[in-house]
Amino acid sequence: MLRNSAPRRLPLWPVAAVLVAAAACVAQDADWAKLRARMVDEQIKARGIKDERVLQAMAKVPRHEFVPEKERADAYRDGALPIGHGQTISQPYIVALMTEAARPKPEHRVLEIGTGSGYQAAVLAELVKEVYTIELVPALADEAKERLKRLGYKNVHTKTGDGYKGWPDAAPFDAVVVTCGADHVPDPLFEQLKPGGVLVIPVGKSGEQSLLAITKDAKGGKTTRDLGPVRFVPFRRAGDGKGK
Ligand code: SAH
Repeated sequence: MLRNSAPRRLPLWPVAAVLVAAAACVAQDADWAKLRARMVDEQIKARGIKDERVLQAMAKVPRHEFVPEKERADAYRDGALPIGHGQTISQPYIVALMTEAARPKPEHRVLEIGTGSGYQAAVLAELVKEVYTIELVPALADEAKERLKRLGYKNVHTKTGDGYKGWPDAAPFDAVVVTCGADHVPDPLFEQLKPGGVLVIPVGKSGEQSLLAITKDAKGGKTTRDLGPVRFVPFRRAGDGKGK
C-alpha cells in the first residue's frame, strides 16, 4: 500500500510575481490611456478637430507601441518623433487632421503611402473597413507589418515598395492619404480614387509643404482645399538610392 504523503507545497512566489507584473501592466496601460486622453483634449480637440470617431480612434490607438523604446516617454507629446532610417512618426495633431480630412466611414477602403511606424494606418484601421499601406524602406515595412499584426489590426494590408503608382489591384479607394512630402501630386494616386473620394497629400518644394485635400467629383474633376503648412520627410522614388 502506498504511504500517504503530505501534499507537496508549491512555492507561491512565481504566482505572486506574475500577478504583480500583470497588475503593473494594467496600471501602466491606465497611465498611457490618461496621457492619450490629455493628448486628445489639449492637442487635437483644442486645435479644432471635431469628428467624434476620429477623436475616439486617437484616444484608443497605443501610440507608445509605435515608437522606438527610447522615445516611449515622449509618445504622447505634441510633436513628431524619430522612428529610425531617417524617418519620423508625425505629430498626433497632424495625424488627426489628415484622418479627419480623409472623411473615413466604416465601409471605406483607404490607401496610405508611407507606412513608417504603422501608426497612421492603425488610426485609419479603427475607422474604415480596409487599409492598404505601402512603405519604401523594407526594414520599416517589415517592422510595421509585425507590429500591426501583434496589436491585432487584421484589416491592414501592407506592401513594400514605391507608392508612387498606388496599389492598382486594390483600387479604387474612398481616400488616399500620403504621409511624405511630394513636389507634385502623383497622377496614379488621384486616378485610383472613387468619384467623391479625397486625396490628402503634403505638396511643396524642399522642406515645407501645404497639406492639400483634393476631392474628385463625379466627372473626375478636382476641388482642392489647403489645410495649411506642414513639414514631412520627402516622398522618394525607388531607385533614387535612398530606399534602403
Ligand atoms: N505614416 C507614418 C509616418 C510616415 S514618415 C507613421 O504613421 O508612422 C514617411 C514615410 O514615407 C517614411 O517611412 C518613408 O520611408 C516613406 N516613403 C517615402 N517615399 C515613399 C514612397 N515613394 N513610397 C512609399 N513610402 C515612401
